[in-house]
Amino acid sequence: MAGAARPVVVKVGTTTLCGPGGRPQPARLAAVAAGLAALCRAGRPVVLVTSGAIATGAAEIGRPAAGASMAERQAFAAVGQPLLMREYGRHFAAHGLRTAQVLLTADDLAVRRRYINARNTMAALLRRRIVPIVNENDTVATEEIRIGDNDTLSAQVAILVGAELLIILSDVDGLYTTDPHRDRTARRIPEVHMIAPEVERLARRSLSRLGTGGMQTKIAAARAATAAGCTVVITDGRRPRVLERIAAGERLGTWFLPAARAVSGRKRWLVAGGRVRGRLFIDEGAARALREGGRSLLPSGVRAVEGAFGAGDLVAVVDPDGREVGRGIAAHDRRTLELMKGHRTSEVAHLAAGRAEVIHRDNLVLSS
Ligand code: GLU
Repeated sequence: MAGAARPVVVKVGTTTLCGPGGRPQPARLAAVAAGLAALCRAGRPVVLVTSGAIATGAAEIGRPAAGASMAERQAFAAVGQPLLMREYGRHFAAHGLRTAQVLLTADDLAVRRRYINARNTMAALLRRRIVPIVNENDTVATEEIRIGDNDTLSAQVAILVGAELLIILSDVDGLYTTDPHRDRTARRIPEVHMIAPEVERLARRSLSRLGTGGMQTKIAAARAATAAGCTVVITDGRRPRVLERIAAGERLGTWFLPAARAVSGRKRWLVAGGRVRGRLFIDEGAARALREGGRSLLPSGVRAVEGAFGAGDLVAVVDPDGREVGRGIAAHDRRTLELMKGHRTSEVAHLAAGRAEVIHRDNLVLSS
C-alpha cells in the first residue's frame, strides 16, 4: 500500500463488546465506530478485527456459549456474525462510513496465493474508504485449521495490510508487573522495546480474565506484528474515547515498538502465516551465526529435529537455552533432516538434491 498512509488495525474482544448476557452493547459498538471514524478523519485507513459472533449468536438462540460443543459454537457464529455486522453497519453509517465483512481462516493466510489475494482485496476496500470488518470464519474453521483467537488474527491482519499501528482493546490497560485485577500494587509498563523472556514471564502472570486470548496470546501477537514493523498498543477498551485519544497522540496502555530490523515483503508472510509444523534444535555456534543476520541454517548446526513436517513447511529454530532464534521454511522434510543433521554440507550432498542448506536465509525470519 505504498504512497498512502499506512493503515491502523483495531481489535475488539468479546468482553469489550458484549454485556453479561452476551449481546453486543449498543453503547460499545457506537464507541468503536466513533473511534474508527476519528482515525479515518485523521487520514488513516482503518481495519476492524472483531470478536463477538459466537456470544451474539448464543444470546440470540438463548443458549450459553460456555461449555458448548465445537459444532454448536460454529452454529452460534453463523447466527451471530450477520447480526454483529448489521449492528456495526448501522453505527458506522452514522459517521458516513461503509463497512465490508471479511472472514478469514488460517489457510487463507498460510497459503501464499490466498494471502496475496486477501491482501489485494483489503487494499481495494481501503482505497475506497470502506472499513473492512474482519473475524475468523468460525463456521467453517475446523479444529486443525483454526487460528483460534482474534489477538493472533489481528496481528496477522496487521501484517497483511502493512499496518503502522495495531490497537488491541482489552479488559486490562496493557501489560502490568503483576495481575492488576488481584494486586493493587501492580504497575503498568508504558513501553516495551523488545519482547524479551522477562516480558513473556510477566504476561503469564498478568492474565486477562475473560475472552479467548489472555495476555500471553496478546504478547505473542505483539511479537509477530512488531517483527513486521508494526507498533502495537494494548489498552483498556472500556475507557471513554480511547481511540480518539490515541489518534490525538496520547500514550495509553502499553506500547510495543516495532523491531529495528523489521522484515518486509515475502518474509512478512512467513510471520503472518504462522503455522509452525516442527522445531529444529541448533547448537550455540549456529545460533550465533543466524543472529548475526544474513546467514542460512546449515545441516552441521542442527542437533535435533522434532515434529512431522515436509519440505516447504514452516518450522521454528531453537537455541540450546530453549529460546526461539527464528522461523523459516524447511528446505527438506523431517526424515531427510534426521539424516542430514550434524553433518557437513559436503557429506550429505547426495541427500540434499542441490539444496545444501536446511533453511535458506531468504526463507528465515529472526525473532526479535
Ligand atoms: N471469532 C470468535 C467470535 O467472533 C472470537 C475469538 C476470540 O474471542 O478471540 O466469537
